[in-house]
Amino acid sequence: MLPEGLRLTSERKPGIQSFRRLLGGLVAGETAFATHEEVGIGRGMNSTVTFAATELQTLIGALLRGGYHVIGPTLRDGAIVYDRLESINVLPGGWTDEQAPGHYHLKRREDGAFFGYTVGPQGWKTYLHPPEVRLWSAQREGQTFRILNNEARPNVPLAFLGVRACELAAIALQDRVLLGDKYRDRIYAERRDGALLIAVQCAQSASTCFCASMGTGPAASGGADAVLTELSGPGGHRFLARAGSSRGAELLMQLKVTPATESDVQQAEAAVDAAATAQTRRIDCTGLKEILYQNFEHPRWENVATRCLTCANCTMVCPTCFCTSVEDTSDVTGNHAERWRRWDSCFTQMFSYIHGGSIRTSAKARYRQWMTHKLAAWIDQFGSSGCVGCGRCITWCPVGIDITEEVRALRDGDTHGNS
Ligand code: SF4
Ligand code: SF4
Repeated sequence: MLPEGLRLTSERKPGIQSFRRLLGGLVAGETAFATHEEVGIGRGMNSTVTFAATELQTLIGALLRGGYHVIGPTLRDGAIVYDRLESINVLPGGWTDEQAPGHYHLKRREDGAFFGYTVGPQGWKTYLHPPEVRLWSAQREGQTFRILNNEARPNVPLAFLGVRACELAAIALQDRVLLGDKYRDRIYAERRDGALLIAVQCAQSASTCFCASMGTGPAASGGADAVLTELSGPGGHRFLARAGSSRGAELLMQLKVTPATESDVQQAEAAVDAAATAQTRRIDCTGLKEILYQNFEHPRWENVATRCLTCANCTMVCPTCFCTSVEDTSDVTGNHAERWRRWDSCFTQMFSYIHGGSIRTSAKARYRQWMTHKLAAWIDQFGSSGCVGCGRCITWCPVGIDITEEVRALRDGDTHGNS
């Protein structure tokens, strides 16, 4: 039992009742520490604290007890991907990624950093806007069909651990597209509502990153329930943390924390600043919408079409691309039918098929559609660029087509389409 004065009670901590619900009925005081009172977590969300790297297991445990599915980075198939996790042992500790146009490679780090990489091929849209969802199925019964409204719905809230700043921006963009209009995507909303986002700021950039020029990173500017920065060096392997919401503050209350020192804060800021400074790619967004609209017949589109395989990789890995198509199937007996929603891409010929044929039959038309929508029409539709500068489309393009380079060539106005 904790000494008098250190117990958490609902009278002294207005948020504790909701936190009990969040964490599945923890007994007050079981996991609280005096340092929370001292550093002010729970009284306000502006406190910055540090905790030992091993405390990340406590954080994961608290989320699991609260009924969350914790999704975070892990190693699989030669890449860092997001998957369900219950232990820090499956985080990619001691690994980093090396990225370049058409190139992704994992290699060992000299330290044991858990988040010492940039971004892998997956965005969080894999969990919020799933690649395929069965909308319904139907079963023949005599001369009629019975519709089985059996769409798989998430039955537990999701907690994302390790969301990068550019990914927070991508989630905000998908929120705008899928929730922020007259049409609200129910499948997305069911997963997004209640999702807890724990950001980890980047302390390094891949050669393909350009979030700094898009104003989306590498510092997390909003949208996270808690923001962490991984630190090493003289103070040991630890995290600097600040809450971004009451749920984030309540979560941090479960950890053994100490007040951050000025040196801790400066070390974190320096690491994030260094990640921004290291970025060599950028997009100059000034007047870009007009440039794209005015260059519909620019020869650069022919140039990129000679390289583009229309494989759709760039749209699959892009954390903001949201297009889907609907497919009906039946079994060979004709007794069972299903309707599925699947990710689709403007790079496929069938995506623009209307009666009589496809509108965009050439690679030129499809690449132009993708980039013009992403960087220009998106602004008219949704009020911002559709690109957050994560660089995935550059890394995972099998022929290394680089959106920053294509923008530069269009902006510079090379009439032959050469860079
Ligand atoms: S267009 Fe490319 S860089 Fe921009 S958000 Fe999509 S994948 Fe990332
Ligand atoms: S730009 Fe690259 S990734 Fe995208 S469709 Fe063309 S070849 Fe595939």
